[in-house]
Order: sequence, then C-alpha cells, then structure tokens
Amino acid sequence: MKKKFFKFFILFILSIFSLSCVAEIDPVSGKKTYTLLSTQQEIEIGQKVVPSAINENDGLYPDKEVQNYIKQLGNKIANATPRKVEYQFYVVNSPDINAFALPGGPIFITRGILLKMEKESELAGVLAHELGHINARHHAKFLEKTYGMSILVSILGIALQGSDYASAVMSLAQVSAGLLQLKFSRDQENEADALGVKFTYQTGYDPKGLLNMFEKFKSLERGMSVEWLSTHPLPDTRIRNVQQMIAQQYPDSYRLKQNSTNFDKIQSILKSTKESFDQVEEAKKYIKSKNYNQAMNLLNRAIEIYGSNQAYTYRALVNLNLRRYNEAISDADRAITIDNLYFKPLLIKGIAQNQLNQWSASINTLEKAKSLVNDNPDLYYYLGVDYQAIGNRGKAIESLTTAIQISDGKRGWEADAQKRLRTLRGY
Ligand SMILES: [Zn+2]
Repeated sequence: MKKKFFKFFILFILSIFSLSCVAEIDPVSGKKTYTLLSTQQEIEIGQKVVPSAINENDGLYPDKEVQNYIKQLGNKIANATPRKVEYQFYVVNSPDINAFALPGGPIFITRGILLKMEKESELAGVLAHELGHINARHHAKFLEKTYGMSILVSILGIALQGSDYASAVMSLAQVSAGLLQLKFSRDQENEADALGVKFTYQTGYDPKGLLNMFEKFKSLERGMSVEWLSTHPLPDTRIRNVQQMIAQQYPDSYRLKQNSTNFDKIQSILKSTKESFDQVEEAKKYIKSKNYNQAMNLLNRAIEIYGSNQAYTYRALVNLNLRRYNEAISDADRAITIDNLYFKPLLIKGIAQNQLNQWSASINTLEKAKSLVNDNPDLYYYLGVDYQAIGNRGKAIESLTTAIQISDGKRGWEADAQKRLRTLRGY
C-alpha cells in the first residue's frame, strides 16, 4: 500500500512538471510561444521511433554512396532552415512512393520515390517539404493534440519495470503507429509547401522540382498506390497555390539548379539494384501463402543479383520456417552486418538461437533487438522462454507477462506462455 502511494506521489509530481508549459522561440515566426512538449522531448520521442520506421520500411538501403548523397543534400537544405536541430536523413528499402519525417529531425525517403525522380531539384523539393513540417513543429502539435502529456512522459521513461513496463510499451507502440501514419491537415500541407519552396530556392534549387513531383504523384495515382498521398493530401488547390507562389515570389527560379552528375550517378546505382528488390517483393507474397520453396528460389536469385539486408532477412525468415536454424542465423548475420538498425533480422536470429537451445546467445540477440523496437510480442515470449531455461525467474516472469499483455491473442504461443507463468509462480 505504502509503495503504491509513493508511486502515485511520484507520478503526481511528474505530471505537475510535465504539464507546465515550456517557453520556446517558434522557429518559423521567430516569436516566443508556449508549448507543452519541449524541443528536447520532441527529439527524444522522434529518436525512439526511428528503428520502427526503418523496420517497417524493410531496412536501410545498403549503398553507402546513396546514403551519403542524401545526407549531404539534406543537410545543405537544412542549413537554410531556421530551426536548428540535428537533422538525419535515411534512404529506406521500401518500394512505396513515400517520404516522411519524425518529430525533431529524422527524415526518411524511400527507394521507391527516388526511382520516380528524374532531377535533383525534385529530390530537393521533397526533402525541403519534409523539413517544412519539422520547422513548423507539425509533429509536436499532433502529439500535443492527440495524446495526453502523461502518455508522452510515460514513454520517455520507458525503463519502468514490472506492470508499468507493459503499459509504457503499449503507449509507445500507439504513439509510433500514430506518427508513422500521421496525416497532416490541409493548412499544414500548405505551410510545409510554402516553407519547402522557400528553402529550396534559398539553397539554390529550382523550386519547380516540388511541382514536378506533385504532377507525377497525380498521374501515378491512377495506376499504382502512392503512399505519399495518403499522408500528405494533395488537392488541386495545393498545386495551384505552389504554382502561384513560385510565379509571384520566385520568378527567376528557372535560372537555378536543376540537376547534378551526382544525382545521375545515384540513380544508376538505384536502378542497378532494382531487379534484386523486385524479386524480394515477389518472394514476400509466397512467404505469406507459406510457399517457402518458391520464395527460396526468388530470394536466391535476388541475392545473386544484389545481396541486400532485405534479401538476406527474408531468406533468414524462410530458413526459420523450414527449421533450418543454422542457415537462418547465418543469413540474419549477413543482414545485421549490412544494417545494424534493422530489427527483423535480430528477431529471426534470436528465435533461431532459442530453437537450438542456445539460451544465452538468444538472450543477447533479443535484448539487442528490444533496444531497437520494444513492442513486438514474439520477442518477449522467446525472451521469457530463454530466461526460464537459464533459471532467471524474475526476468522470465516479466518477459512472459509483457508478451501476453501486448499480444493480440493470435500468436499461437499464448497458452504455453500462461502455462510457463503458472509453473514459474508455483501454482
Ligand atoms: Zn506534407
């Protein structure tokens, strides 16, 4: 009872501190404003979601030259923006046509959208638009409006133990899903467009690049799904607004930079790996229908063309399902060597080690995975089994309890987890 009261007291104090507004200078208007979420908290929340964003987009694109190129161009544009935070730029493997940002600095651009671009100014326009959202604090405004401050504070203190842990994990899962599917309002899109055009112009690129991309999205929309449109609504008025803005405020923009030899070089790298990624996408369909032999053929072919983290990860998954645990581990290791922020291969490796009764090795791998993405129920189940096997009763109970609490009830191991918990608790 006493302990409970103390906990309540601490939460009470925390909420008083966290509910008080923070005075900050609005990066866009330059005026002093009061916000609930401080820049530091905004950055911390954004950083917590980075590995989930990478995992859900099938890992970082493996080519260092492509990653460095996007970083350089992104930072060049970021230098022209008023908000001084540490911006990060990532190219992810997803074939979707998408680009998005997270609170406080991370910006993601998919392999799919890059392949639809023909000029550097188009890429500059898209990056500048995402920088516009970060500069106008659109993510922070979404967080403040959608979630209570107590939820946001609870996910920042995720190191909580016991029953609070599962609820903090679930809150973080909720916030990351919210951020990864975040839809901005029309006004926010217009604001990001206006800022994006300005940043592009100030960096020396023709802002019509963004318009080119809008027109491409419009024409692509009929044939294939454009992810970018589902999170950044694009009505015709938006296109007209940008056209007008450029004509009135930046009439000399046609003289600015359109393209570079670096951009063309990056495009040729992306094109040379496309076939391999296409094979993996095909293989994923066969994995879904449990046709593992067909999937394996496609993945072998993909790896022959280009051994990406994604191809190795999905081959590891097929090997895991075929109970070839050693092969699963060696494929997962190849993926991890290429991309150590990718959660999926770590999870696969940890499960394969568990199946081989390599308990301590499995704990080591799964704890690493947990430090990246901590809302995966399978991870907690296998971790619980590992801890039980080495006789760490406390950690076994904690992991299995979390597994059950965050499971959707359809994982298949729930009954076994309950049985293990009864044994561990001695009844
Ligand atoms: Zn947008």
